[in-house]
Amino acid sequence: VEDCVAEDMARFEESFKGINSRYRLINRIGEGTFSTVYKAEDLLYHKYKNDWDIEEQEDSKWSPPPKKGACSTTKGKPRYVAIKKIYVTSSPIRIFNELELLHDLKSSDSVCPLITAFRHQDQVIAVLPYFQHRDFREYFRDMTISDMRLYFRSLFIALRSVHAHGILHRDIKPTNFLYNPQHARGVLVDFGLAEREGTDWHLCACQLPSSERRYKIEHSVYATTLASAPSQPPSYPKTDQRSSRRANRAGTRGFRAPEVLLKCTAQNTSIDMWSAGVILLTLLSRRFPFFHSADDIDALLEITNIFGKKKMREISLLHGQVFETNIPSYTEQGHGFEKIILWCTNRSGRDEQGRKNQLVGEEKEAALFLERLLECEPSRRITAEEALRHPFVARAGE
Ligand code: ADP
Ligand code: MG
Repeated sequence: VEDCVAEDMARFEESFKGINSRYRLINRIGEGTFSTVYKAEDLLYHKYKNDWDIEEQEDSKWSPPPKKGACSTTKGKPRYVAIKKIYVTSSPIRIFNELELLHDLKSSDSVCPLITAFRHQDQVIAVLPYFQHRDFREYFRDMTISDMRLYFRSLFIALRSVHAHGILHRDIKPTNFLYNPQHARGVLVDFGLAEREGTDWHLCACQLPSSERRYKIEHSVYATTLASAPSQPPSYPKTDQRSSRRANRAGTRGFRAPEVLLKCTAQNTSIDMWSAGVILLTLLSRRFPFFHSADDIDALLEITNIFGKKKMREISLLHGQVFETNIPSYTEQGHGFEKIILWCTNRSGRDEQGRKNQLVGEEKEAALFLERLLECEPSRRITAEEALRHPFVARAGE
């Protein structure tokens, strides 16, 4: 693996002319569907430090943490950056969109700012300050409820700011929120799927270059959701004449809100709050990833297990869809979060006195807050602003 990474870095340095004179690549730190991210040292930091304006305003959160007000003593200290190499297969519109939204959000403290961006031939790289954080998988099992309060306070501060700019992140998940548990601070990254509220992708798709159009259209399936047992043949007719509905369904499997799965065309910032809820559910159930669905229908069924068929029919109607399933194991009322959390943490049995286990105290409070995030109806779901005032979050750090 190490050889592979070294080879990949060498290839990148060779292909991106001049990058060596400005940055020293250190390691590869991320590899996703749309980009590869490298940690690097900015060799010309002192020459171009005005580009780093955000870092000069508030030093402490960026790595390495410099001493307060000690500009001269920081001279010579290495400055680390994250270089995001956006795959050349991404459409120019997409790349531009990400850079533009990051630019819009540059005053926001909890969004990883863009220092600069470069293009060499068809390759674009975005340069961000390197943010010291820990891998979610390393700490999520050990998080106490107090730790969760701090984590979500930081996440909702970030979302409040993004949403106040009328922007939907669309891909909220642990790998896109870089969190430093030691400082109880995190920053949002990855605005590759973000969009402005009210963007009509149906209209946009018609105006996009063909590669982008393919991307959007690939993500559209039949409008009517007829969920069938995985082992049975699909119960919708192959020659269905009904027009299919198109909506932006970008995001990560398992973190998509019901209205995204149901292809609601009027999605708003509340989809990010649902995804934040999935993170909280992960923490409370100590299972990551929590949802394992292979596709949108599967994802709807996983949600059905929690909320029950009745609720699913109701919310489907809300988005003009019909929900039906012939799987007998799903109940009308669902199981609820408390039961699921107890079950996931091996406490679904009874205590010594023969009483059913229940969530109590802080954990109960967390489960009630979870219900506000994983609220199926987007209009009733808690907003980031409200979440910051909710006792679960407002009491963070007490
Ligand atoms: P992708 O679109 O490929 O998911 P991201 O912007 O999410 O790209 O970055 C991928 C990964 O790279 C992140 O999950 C994180 O581990 C790392 N990363 C990205 N930006 C930074 C940064 N500013 N500081 C430290 N690590 C980063
Ligand atoms: Mg990402």
